[in-house]
Amino acid sequence: MKPKILVHGGAGEWNVEPKTVEQARGEMKAAVIEGLRIMKKGSSVDAVVAAITLMEDSGKFNAGSGAYPNIEYDIELDAGLMDGRTLGAGAVASVRNVPNPVELARKIMTDTRHVLISGRGAEILAKGYGLYSKLKVDKARKDIINRRMKQYISKEKWIRTLPVKYRLPPVRDTIGAVAIDENGNLAAATSTGGTAFKLPGRIGDSPVCGAGFYAMNGKGAVSATGEGEDIMRYSLSSRVVWDLDGRVDPYMVLIRELQEMKRLFGRGSAGAIVLDSRGNCGAYATTRAMAVAGCSQNAVISEVVESVGIDSVQEKLRRL
Ligand code: ASP
Repeated sequence: MKPKILVHGGAGEWNVEPKTVEQARGEMKAAVIEGLRIMKKGSSVDAVVAAITLMEDSGKFNAGSGAYPNIEYDIELDAGLMDGRTLGAGAVASVRNVPNPVELARKIMTDTRHVLISGRGAEILAKGYGLYSKLKVDKARKDIINRRMKQYISKEKWIRTLPVKYRLPPVRDTIGAVAIDENGNLAAATSTGGTAFKLPGRIGDSPVCGAGFYAMNGKGAVSATGEGEDIMRYSLSSRVVWDLDGRVDPYMVLIRELQEMKRLFGRGSAGAIVLDSRGNCGAYATTRAMAVAGCSQNAVISEVVESVGIDSVQEKLRRL
């Protein structure tokens, strides 16, 4: 099997300056190259963790040090991963000051008998594993976040209108990765700060196995992004993986599931990346745009693309 890795940098508006788009493309490219390099010596699980860690550290996405704060201006992170070989999964939710929650999720998968640990308990574990340290948000990122916060809401108004007019701003750049290694082992991981200016304690799909991520050898691996509340209610990632049988085109399956989800919820609110057991891959979103990158020994691509033009990315992904 030819090793392959895909990452996404979120499905959403991507209505940002060209410079921000270029930075995101650069970071995603670096992440897939690093993931593939790690996979040469290790497994697909090592690869997705390496790629996500790099993107969490970049501060350019809504994850790790780049994460959006909640309405109290506090950063609470969610992440999860799954090993398609063992069906092991690990996840953390609402953790603070854990710069690489995907690493902690991996520890939960390998070292505990639990799948999902939240808040204080997860932070205690992080301290034990040396994964707890003050989250450093760089100044440029803080400025972007502050600008967006002003643009979308005034805190008081937001709180006054809750819960009747509960509206989340369409700002998302969650990250995710899927990989297949030379032994055909599949893995998936997702990491996020959650929806921007969420309620404190809100947990989205990203750390929920079957919703934000799923992997099963012989079938496929998926990482999802978008409106977590919709993705959870649809169980997006596990549905896509269970539809894969080694014969169907994973891109077609993604389109079918995401369009069905859009029909049910009455809005295009999600996207995902997929790899199947033969190494066929796909990326699709029903939001305005999506950021996606992929890498194999043949080629590397990294794009932020409007959903209407996503077929062009699919053509490139097919050549990986
Ligand atoms: N799915 C994430 C969440 O709802 C957000 C995103 O994908 O950007 O927490």
